[in-house]
Amino acid sequence: MNAEIGIIGGSGLYSLMDKFEEVEMDTEYGKPSDRIAIGMIGNRSVAFLPRHGRKHSLPPHKIPYKANIAAFKQLGVSRIISTSAIGSLKQEYKPGDIALFDQFVNMTHGRDDTFFHGSSVTHVSTAEPYCPELRSIGMKAADTLKLDYHKDATIVVINGPRFNTKAESKMYANHGFDVINMTQYPEVPLAIEREMCYLGIGMVTDYDAGLEGNDNIKPVTLEEVNRIFAANISKVKSMINEIVPRVPEARIKCHCPDVLKNAVVGH
Ligand SMILES: [Zn+2]
Repeated sequence: MNAEIGIIGGSGLYSLMDKFEEVEMDTEYGKPSDRIAIGMIGNRSVAFLPRHGRKHSLPPHKIPYKANIAAFKQLGVSRIISTSAIGSLKQEYKPGDIALFDQFVNMTHGRDDTFFHGSSVTHVSTAEPYCPELRSIGMKAADTLKLDYHKDATIVVINGPRFNTKAESKMYANHGFDVINMTQYPEVPLAIEREMCYLGIGMVTDYDAGLEGNDNIKPVTLEEVNRIFAANISKVKSMINEIVPRVPEARIKCHCPDVLKNAVVGH
């Protein structure tokens, strides 16, 4: 079994494929979050993995990020379309909005975030962590769908699983970061290390711990996250359905396949 495009997201995305076959995979880094569903969207082969497991049983800091990326690599995946719920740190990022990520800031700790612990010292560039070609395809898709979206969000990734204090949230907002979640790191750099293109699509579900100077906006609750997510999941599915057929088969417009050239010290 193989697939060219990997999709990571919530279990609501199984319905993207009319039919699919599930494979139980194992990697040298252990098992991925769940069985991987392999099917077609149009005439493109896709592999879908529910990041937290189909029963949402894996908290963000326990997700087997390395096994997930390694399993996709084994299937031949060269591009990842990732979707996740995000909190907003700015008024203009409203619940229900779609955001394409442009930069991440890592504030997680204790997560195994590299494949390169071994004998060769490897430093990949993450200056532009999200594939520019996939991002432009994502923008075209959102334009076609006439969605309210943000094309260049900076996401700060916190360890969780607790939500932020008001002071933490204010600090991140004061740094100028746009949105926040708990799972973009180390998923993105691991995909980069395995020479994959990665597109990060977020759906705003809440205003984190509230917005400074606006007492009407209450701190995030899980109930509200779930309500907004369910009400807007169709936007995420439409985005994926628009994006997949626009992805060129060959990767010639981005440098993601060449990331390991000149990245290894002493070779
Ligand atoms: Zn790329």
